[in-house]
Amino acid sequence: MQNLTVLGTGVLGSQIIFQAAYSGKNVVAYDLSDEILAKLPDRWEYLKPLYLRDLEDATPEKLDAAVGRIRATSDLADAVSDADIIIEAVPERLDIKQQTWEQVGALAPDRTIFCTNSSTLLPSDIAEFTGRPEKFLALHFANEVWRANTGEVMQHAGTDPEVFEAVAQFAEEIGMVPIRIYKEQPGYVLNSLLVPLLDAAAQLLVRGVASVEDIDKTWRMATGAPNGPFEIFDVVGMMTPYTLNKDSENPESREFAELIKRDYIDKGYLGKGSGRGFYTYE
Ligand code: NAD
Repeated sequence: MQNLTVLGTGVLGSQIIFQAAYSGKNVVAYDLSDEILAKLPDRWEYLKPLYLRDLEDATPEKLDAAVGRIRATSDLADAVSDADIIIEAVPERLDIKQQTWEQVGALAPDRTIFCTNSSTLLPSDIAEFTGRPEKFLALHFANEVWRANTGEVMQHAGTDPEVFEAVAQFAEEIGMVPIRIYKEQPGYVLNSLLVPLLDAAAQLLVRGVASVEDIDKTWRMATGAPNGPFEIFDVVGMMTPYTLNKDSENPESREFAELIKRDYIDKGYLGKGSGRGFYTYE
């Protein structure tokens, strides 16, 4: 599969486009308007130094060649007309995803394989809208795809096994390490592991059981992991756990949200990106 179309050019869509082009694929970038697409050159200039910093084989020439393999269009029929595979990274709303796939299903060639990058929706919520459920599945990337390069490939009950394998192979061709997920699982593998760990750490803190530093130290020393849960919270940023916990039915989760708002967010300590969260960074 040499020709990829990516629907949605936001945070993740732009990274998937650039990573696939860097890996030698021809990529068509689709978004709602030419004004939105006009921001793409800035995205490439933002990503290039990060590739040079993080990837040993990156050179300015290779990065320029990647940009040369990207074509942008706001015409959906044009965007999908020669796609071997389409990856959808539109906003995380079921109605937008269903509507998008309904349109794409009517326009794309019969051979085209369809993937969603949704973080929280299940492929079976969308499959029927594509008109070709057997060629539809999830290919889920992590933020900073060039570095955090897992590609979680998740099928639904109706996905053709050959399509599942073809997408795992494609993920590898664009520099991802494919993680095969044979049954639908909310949160895929990564968040199924990570969310309970972070919730448990939050509970230990609000119950006053141990300090942030000691909870992290315990996890690092006992498992060999490079980061403890509060270091992970700092990377994710404070706003995400705040939003997820503030309206929880669990009083301890709400207490954790209040704590991060009062002691961190209100003081401008938004996590590693802002220089300070549970820890202070250079
Ligand atoms: P984003 O808001 O940054 O980008 C969404 C893009 O989709 C925007 O460019 C928007 O103009 C465009 N768009 C809106 N409606 C559209 C439509 N009907 N057709 C085509 N494009 C449309 O969002 P994001 O963070 O890149 O997330 C996109 C998807 O990727 C979501 O499903 C999300 O769950 C998933 N995801 C996000 C992350 C992350 O860390 N941000 C990680 C993994 C997966």
